[in-house]
Amino acid sequence: MQIPTDQQVPDGTLPESPVAAQLRRGFRWLRFSPELENAYWTDWYAEWRAYLRVNLCIAIVVFLGFAQLSHQVMPADSQPAMNLVRFGALIPALVLALTVTFLKDGRRWYQPAILVLAPLGMGAIVVLVIIAWTYGEPRVFPALILAMISVYLLIGLPFFGAVSTNLLALAVYIYGAGAAGAALREFGYNALVLVAANVIGGAVAYNVERTRRREWLEARLLLELVERDGLTGIANRRRFDRDLKLQWARSAREQRPIALLMADIDCFKAYNDHYGHQAGDEALQAVARVLAGCARRPADSSARYGGEEFAMILPETSPDGARQVAERLVDGVRALGIPHEHSPAATVLTVSVGIGHVVPAPRRSAAGLVQLADQALYAAKDAGRNRVHLLATEYEHLQTGYFRRPTGGSRDTQ
Ligand code: GH3
Ligand code: MG
Ligand code: MG
Repeated sequence: MQIPTDQQVPDGTLPESPVAAQLRRGFRWLRFSPELENAYWTDWYAEWRAYLRVNLCIAIVVFLGFAQLSHQVMPADSQPAMNLVRFGALIPALVLALTVTFLKDGRRWYQPAILVLAPLGMGAIVVLVIIAWTYGEPRVFPALILAMISVYLLIGLPFFGAVSTNLLALAVYIYGAGAAGAALREFGYNALVLVAANVIGGAVAYNVERTRRREWLEARLLLELVERDGLTGIANRRRFDRDLKLQWARSAREQRPIALLMADIDCFKAYNDHYGHQAGDEALQAVARVLAGCARRPADSSARYGGEEFAMILPETSPDGARQVAERLVDGVRALGIPHEHSPAATVLTVSVGIGHVVPAPRRSAAGLVQLADQALYAAKDAGRNRVHLLATEYEHLQTGYFRRPTGGSRDTQ
């Protein structure tokens, strides 16, 4: 038996996971595709916001402490210039960065802000070091090394932002020291120390960000796999339950209709018995590809419900729209042309599709919608299989669509 390949099934190819693709492609330059990059930083910010606040507070306290110390150890006439840099640029840059973490839209603003504020703050520290040096005080210099390491590891700059900030600070240091009259012999050693600090800090930062990105991708891929059916590659029952809950709640909130398609392969037991389970598995994969191709709107979601049953949730869809999708599915599976000698419905493999269509009401539930679609499916089976049957509250006086206890026929207002 010949199962059609992906190319032969129009619209039937499963979308490849962008996460898996990114992992395979790698990210040597510490950058994902735009969509993943955005999601990565959103997750990063949610996790790091609290640390950023603590780190920035510590930095503010440390620099205020240094200001106090400097008042005691530096000549009094050096203080106006140093205070101007300290309280005019360095502390405001830190306070501004801290403030951004409290904004409602902080995720969006933090990185652009820190990309501007970090060079400003580092520039201020360089100027402080040079002023201190001109007053004969070289002990301020190590603060620059610590600040450079902090830029790599503590304030949430992406790696290349941190590298650029520190290279800029190094350039300002070399230029400033020269302009302040230092001979190369005097500050060359310090410049070398700063280069070494950058090599170490940069190497650590690169590896940390690379590892963090890989772990983020792996965790995401794991989540995707947990919700994916192993045989067909489409969403599994776990994902379906989550999607249905979510879409039901959304439809209820907005008082918009929601349709649920339940598709079941016709006489699949006989197919398995005759052609073997491997052929059965291949047929399931082919049907899943057709199903995936039928979900066209972004909010539509299709899944393997279990065994040879598939489901598709269509939010914001009219009964006619849902029927069209279901017909496409029935036609698409039939068009695969997979021979099925033991089916009373056709000479090829077919599916029956039941559609439940409701607008959520207080006494209705997602479980009720599943029951409704299931009932519609059995009506399609009873009517001869290889067809669509729709049960919609707009058209009929329904007994189902509410949650029913399995034991009795009584309605429950779950
Ligand atoms: P109907 O038209 O009324 O749906 O009849 P049916 O034979 O399709 O229904 P039934 O529930 O009796 O049989 C379902 C069959 O689906 C039983 C099982 O052999 C097959 N099946 C379920 N899951 C898998 C699977 O993962 N792989 C394979 N190959 N077969 C499966
Ligand atoms: Mg079945
Ligand atoms: Mg079946």
